[in-house]
Amino acid sequence: MKDALTGLDSYEVFLGKLQKEIDKIGDDKIAIIYTDIKHFKYINDTYGYKVGDSLLQEFVDEMMQGREHILCASRVYSDNFVAANRVVKGTLSNEEVREMIYQINRDWEAKFREKYLNSRLQFCTGISIIDKDSRSKDAETAVSNANLARKVAKEMDSDCCVLFDQSMMEGIKREVEITSGIPRALERKEFQVYFQPKMDTDTLNLIGAEALVRWRKSDGRFIYPDEFIPLIERSGQIVDVDFYVYREVFQFLAERLKDGKKVVPISLNVSRMHLNRTDFLSYVESLLEEFRIPCSLIEFELTESIYLENTEAALDLIRGLHNLGIKVSMDDFGSGYSSLNLLSKLPIDIIKLDKVFLKEGEMQESDRIIISCVVDMAKKLHIASLCEGVETQEQSDYLKKVGCQMQQGFYFSRPIPREDFENIMGDNV
Ligand code: C2E
Ligand code: CA
Ligand code: CA
Repeated sequence: MKDALTGLDSYEVFLGKLQKEIDKIGDDKIAIIYTDIKHFKYINDTYGYKVGDSLLQEFVDEMMQGREHILCASRVYSDNFVAANRVVKGTLSNEEVREMIYQINRDWEAKFREKYLNSRLQFCTGISIIDKDSRSKDAETAVSNANLARKVAKEMDSDCCVLFDQSMMEGIKREVEITSGIPRALERKEFQVYFQPKMDTDTLNLIGAEALVRWRKSDGRFIYPDEFIPLIERSGQIVDVDFYVYREVFQFLAERLKDGKKVVPISLNVSRMHLNRTDFLSYVESLLEEFRIPCSLIEFELTESIYLENTEAALDLIRGLHNLGIKVSMDDFGSGYSSLNLLSKLPIDIIKLDKVFLKEGEMQESDRIIISCVVDMAKKLHIASLCEGVETQEQSDYLKKVGCQMQQGFYFSRPIPREDFENIMGDNV
């Protein structure tokens, strides 16, 4: 069976041929080269499908020019291609194969970008190499390894050509372990909400806290958010975990209010995944209705990068929260490419200065200057400022000197479990 568009073997036929080649591998190596055309969608959207189709055909023509080394090739789907090449014994090391493909990709890019102006086309390639000593001699595994390396390549901006190595499997295993464990962890209430106190700079009194999630596995081991959140953001499961955290916090506050105990505002982190969904605001609204707590007790933190990635959606979300009477902060301010311009565009209530400004050891003059300028600017824009990652008295004193209203960090307290936080808050209203 052939692919109607390109005339290449169908993927099934390709796999059969590749397996036969692997079975008689001898002393040579076989390089499985899996390529994906990044930003191909732009061509279809801008120039139309006909042009898209002819670009794919041109790509195949280019690829088949090196035919003498190609054992078999196929279009896996859409703009994903795979080719198996023979590397004669003693000619090229694995790294040299990668470098060669890298160079070919760059040449193709230059050629295609010249023809398809403004297209930013990029060829992302993953390579897996089989020789007679390889652990697995299965064609399908070899292609899926190359595809895995391709995914890694696609995530990198500059070096779009990556050799598969076994450590990538470890990463995938961990990812599967984590993502497949989430539904059960939610069911068994393995996620715990920790609270990190926020202090008023002038009085050093407790004025609020940030809710931070912890995953306590059934064997007592903790998994920290930095490890599991990026993975479950990709799988979309972060939405369930965030909602779980929100519900726990609403319930916590409602219980304390019912018992007539003291409460302080709690801030909740918002994953970037919520921006492309419609249920975030309605969920928050339903929690407000169910638990009947004053909206002034809840705040939301959106990281700086979210605002940059999708300013319009972020703006809608802030407006929606403001309509509910809820404050919003810009988290991790200064950690990435913050655009000061954004601050005047977005009606945020609080800036949370990232902990990068407070590095270990004595405070650097340059960090002092930046902190004092940001605090000053925030004040002029009528935005409150909080600095996170405060670890020493020197830092705390400096923040007081420049008028940063709130502070949070290990100097006051690490994130702590609910019971400990309740002890700090005390019972009296
Ligand atoms: P973040 O929002 O920037 O949270 C602050 C992080 O800084 C916390 O890490 C906290 O433990 C740490 N930290 C606080 N004070 C200090 C200090 O003085 N020094 C140092 N070195 N670190 C300090 P944590 O709890 O590991 O959380 C990491 C990140 O995971 C958070 O960064 C947040 O982006 C994310 N995260 C945590 N909980 C949630 C959640 O429920 N939902 C979402 N979407 N993200 C969450
Ligand atoms: Ca935060
Ligand atoms: Ca932060």
